[in-house]
Amino acid sequence: MAGKKKAAIIALANQKGGVAKTTSVSSLGAAFAELGLTVLLVDLDAQACLTFSLGIDPDAVETSVHEVLLGQCEASEAVLKVSESVDLIPATIDLAGAEAALLTRPGREFVLQSALEEVRRDYDVILLDCSPSLGVLTLGALTASTGLIIPMPCEMLSHRGVGQLLDTVRDVRKLLNKKLKVVGILPTMYDGRARHSKEVLGDVGERYDLPVLSPPIPRTVRFAEAPAIGRSVLETAGSSKGAMAYREVAESLLPVVQA
Ligand code: ADP
Ligand code: MG
Repeated sequence: MAGKKKAAIIALANQKGGVAKTTSVSSLGAAFAELGLTVLLVDLDAQACLTFSLGIDPDAVETSVHEVLLGQCEASEAVLKVSESVDLIPATIDLAGAEAALLTRPGREFVLQSALEEVRRDYDVILLDCSPSLGVLTLGALTASTGLIIPMPCEMLSHRGVGQLLDTVRDVRKLLNKKLKVVGILPTMYDGRARHSKEVLGDVGERYDLPVLSPPIPRTVRFAEAPAIGRSVLETAGSSKGAMAYREVAESLLPVVQA
């Protein structure tokens, strides 16, 4: 059921590691699929955590996003099926070399955008799992995207760096991709019992003048278990608080995705 419309492309980026970018990509992907959408996930981190967490051994992958970015194959040739409505363009450790290889290429920020054009009508939504840096790969992701979601744990310290990310977004909009919209901050690892968490949540949207997606994703050990099984938390603990929260966030994003 290939949609005729071009897929929305949403990057999940934050140059800090461990903020739940990868967890949010696999969980929102599964939630969108439950809502009847066709989904493509793209692993843009050489650590290949998304690939691994979806049950694929990165060492056994032959054609990955690395080859796509270097123009050695089409995006469609790297696509793997992970569930009925969710596909993945996997990463391998080779991606660590892509950054350097792209540095000498003119128009390097546009390489991902142009590669995804080929598959954009095959999906309703494409989610990009960014690496914890603001390097060439993340710039390429922001250039390819229609929307940006910034996952952020509800702790004070994580605030640092958001300003820098937003400066980058401003530059990307000016120079590379006028269409990029910040969809919002996605509060993760929320502990409803901690006053601290509530304060951060109350303050963050105002401070950055950005929408805050709702509900916040609760902190639960269920998220640690899912990747080992090779499935998202929606499949391993479908009625857990965390799974329910991602479902609600995905539903709230439908207008963005279907715009
Ligand atoms: P990133 O991609 O930003 O580096 P990950 O998605 O890999 O972050 O998450 C980092 C770690 O935090 C992982 O071990 C993951 O299982 C865990 N985690 C993610 N979300 C939650 C949550 N809501 N509650 C508890 N642990 C979480
Ligand atoms: Mg990650």
